[in-house]
Amino acid sequence: MNKTGTITAVGLGPGDSELLTLKGYKALQNADVIFYPASTVSEEGVSSFSLAILDQLQLQVRVEPLHIPMKSNERTRYYKEAFENIKKEYDAGSNVVIVSEGDILFYSTFGYLWNYIQEADLPCTLIPGIPAFIASASMGNLPLVEGSTPLLVIPCPDSFEEISTQITSHHSLVIMKLSKLKDWSTFLGKLEKPFLYVERVGLETQFVTNNASDLAFRRVPYFSLLIIYG
Ligand code: SAH
Repeated sequence: MNKTGTITAVGLGPGDSELLTLKGYKALQNADVIFYPASTVSEEGVSSFSLAILDQLQLQVRVEPLHIPMKSNERTRYYKEAFENIKKEYDAGSNVVIVSEGDILFYSTFGYLWNYIQEADLPCTLIPGIPAFIASASMGNLPLVEGSTPLLVIPCPDSFEEISTQITSHHSLVIMKLSKLKDWSTFLGKLEKPFLYVERVGLETQFVTNNASDLAFRRVPYFSLLIIYG
């Protein structure tokens, strides 16, 4: 009898493999194949943040990249190809796991793949992960939000003006994908609110500061985020 395949999506957490859920860990151990996004951030040569987390776990499981370039007009084609590779393994009866760094449905590659999985009516179990902004908040000494304070997430600001217009009201802000804008130290130096800047949370190369001048000569990488407290 042919074995029926399974598909499970696992959020790997922000970078430290110990910040992975037990449920996610068990799914990884039971996998026949693990697909990870290899979304090359060209200027940094980082091939896959997810693979760096998987490597820490030393699983005896085959891993396969899903090539999805950060900047390409053909991203749809890459997603479709990635889905077809996943489906092939599923049809062959494998326990397939798809991973994402952080959470799987929070600005994640998996979100796009999930559309294809649902369209094809394939069963899929979702196992969430700790998003980077939650892990980053634990590096600070203030609650991210409390009481009736709302939280606003700006995923990829185009300008400091855009951010400034959001700072007027009383909410906390999480800003992600900072590397598009350059002069963060000047912006933060003028900001009259507590903030926390976090790079590569959970990795050995983690860097955290609440001092604007620390960013004066620092190149802000893709894997960084900013919390501005309400
Ligand atoms: N699914 C992820 C988000 C992916 S979007 C999550 O749940 O967190 C990519 C953005 O997330 C990056 O530009 C950066 O702003 C943030 N990010 C992801 N991992 C990070 C880390 N380890 N440290 C700091 N920021 C991180």
